[in-house]
Amino acid sequence: MLTTNKGKVYLVGAGPGDPELITLKALRCIQTADVILYDRLVNPELLSHAKGDAELIYCGKLPGAHAMTQRAINDSLIHYASQGHIVVRLKGGDPYVFGRGGEEALELVSMGMAYETIPGITSAIGAGASADIPLTHRGVAASFACVTGNRCNGDHEPVRWDLLAHSVDTLAVYMGVGQLEQISLELLKHGKPSVTPVALIEQGTTDKQRVITGTLGDIHNRAISMKVKNPALIIIGEVVLIRDRLAAAMQQAVAMIS
Ligand code: SAH
Repeated sequence: MLTTNKGKVYLVGAGPGDPELITLKALRCIQTADVILYDRLVNPELLSHAKGDAELIYCGKLPGAHAMTQRAINDSLIHYASQGHIVVRLKGGDPYVFGRGGEEALELVSMGMAYETIPGITSAIGAGASADIPLTHRGVAASFACVTGNRCNGDHEPVRWDLLAHSVDTLAVYMGVGQLEQISLELLKHGKPSVTPVALIEQGTTDKQRVITGTLGDIHNRAISMKVKNPALIIIGEVVLIRDRLAAAMQQAVAMIS
């Protein structure tokens, strides 16, 4: 980490949605920041911890307006930090999991800016927990992968669905709801059974959370009929069935007490 007389940028993970799922360190950063640049997926309640005179800058997309470009965000971080301010770049989940935190850190370091990254609970972990879906489970799943679902259209390096279909037990797919049909088809094409359990967790960890379950064969149609929207996570694998086992065990326990 660089030390300069200038300000400092904290790349901070806000957690997956529930405002209480933030680390003490991240909260302290919010409380002491002079400037906070925050994303769409950050729970706005967290901003109530900011100093009264802190400058709050929204970087997401507003209806009818454009989102701030990555260039403009990087420039703002450098601008405020070089004026000696404590700057918090607040991101949903974890800044280094599909959060472009690495790009921002590279940019800051290339400009000689001091920075620190504060991890957050990524949405696969948070939403999995609040939907009662463990990502690993002894005897069921010994591995999980976090995968982006928005690389189906060939802009970037492709996701290796062919390898993922066979080498990882649980897939947690981010940004995939719009491509659910394509993702299911890819996995089916590469030999994943159509009965493979799938869960969609919409607005995980928040009071608006919805969980829709199905299989690789029918989840796309279920998502359409239930009108699943972003932010939502796709969890693919046998671990999804643990949710039902927990629910059944809970019912039994309740029946025994009453
Ligand atoms: N850095 C973030 C991910 C940003 S990519 C993290 O670590 O979680 C944005 C994607 O994250 C969304 O498209 C969605 O797939 C997932 N996501 C973020 N918050 C979510 C939530 N509360 N519930 C379900 N999925 C969520």
